[in-house]
Amino acid sequence: MFGIKEVGIDLGTSSVLIYQKGKGIVLREPAVVAVDVNKGTAIATGYKAQRMLGRTPEHIKAVRPMRDGVISDYELTSKMLREFLRKAIKPGILGYKAVACVPSGVTEVEKRAVIDAVSQAGASRVRIIEEPIAAALGAGLDISKPNGSMVVDIGGGTTDIAILSLDGIVVRESIKVAGDKFDEAIVKYVKKKYNLLIGERTAEEAKLEIGCVLPMEEERSFEVRGRCLITALPKTIELTSTEMAEATIETAMQIAEAVYSVLERTKPELISDISQNGLVLTGGGSLIWGMDILLKQRTGIDALIAEDSISCVAEGTGKALDYIESLPNEAQRKKIIYS
Ligand code: ADP
Ligand code: MG
Repeated sequence: MFGIKEVGIDLGTSSVLIYQKGKGIVLREPAVVAVDVNKGTAIATGYKAQRMLGRTPEHIKAVRPMRDGVISDYELTSKMLREFLRKAIKPGILGYKAVACVPSGVTEVEKRAVIDAVSQAGASRVRIIEEPIAAALGAGLDISKPNGSMVVDIGGGTTDIAILSLDGIVVRESIKVAGDKFDEAIVKYVKKKYNLLIGERTAEEAKLEIGCVLPMEEERSFEVRGRCLITALPKTIELTSTEMAEATIETAMQIAEAVYSVLERTKPELISDISQNGLVLTGGGSLIWGMDILLKQRTGIDALIAEDSISCVAEGTGKALDYIESLPNEAQRKKIIYS
């Protein structure tokens, strides 16, 4: 295969996925960088850095540069992306064409920062699209029709909610409540109920195993280990799925309320389309059990979890490469391209 490589980048708050046309997803790594504070240099990225989270000596700090869905640390994000891109696609002299997606509602400066980071990693052309468009394309929705569709992407740092029609976003909302907030809620719950301090990674592990926002019919449990706040010694408890639901429901309701408020701001014709089509859930955060049920309860609209919801946005950015080319004119393309 000759010609310039074409790449889609999903720069998430929890993970970075890179899609290469003709190959599919070629990289999937946590968005984490380990930094040597004394020297000011990055010593590891991705999985290697993630293993260091919460376990580093004082002079090494493992950070998530995209924490809230936008670039909080430009230098580190740029370094991380460069490393991932080098590893995954080996740019070569021709460079590559890239489409990257950013959460809706990022500032011009943040958008610029993403473009610069991708360019510095060897891209000859970078286009930015908004995450909901990528999520919709990835989920296989036809966004070109005058028929409203709704996507709710629950990531690590942000939940992006959007209503799309005719290749554009009609209503959008991005809130800083998503997967990470579930982890924080679990930490808080365990601390309050058991006087036990657990790390966010431990909370996430419990969530991946028995995560739910509503009580499950069949009770499950998971052993979590932490430090007892009374004796200061290690202690283990069995966390049940019922407790899990108690811990997470408030966070889940915040997401459901945001979805509801977007629907409230949407024209009746589009609402009617959406109630027929259902809303589509993407992102890793949507996999917590019961989130779809809760959304249906709150909005009356069926919530469908997209197939391979964690890879949806990356696949969508990949599809966007061709989709943008297929549009008949520049005005149409401008609707999709964010920059
Ligand atoms: P981002 O796009 O922000 O990088 P992702 O879409 O990759 O985020 O989702 C990451 C979030 O999804 C994390 O909070 C992670 O804990 C959560 N997650 C992933 N898999 C599951 C699962 N099976 N159940 C519950 N939460 C999950
Ligand atoms: Mg994402």
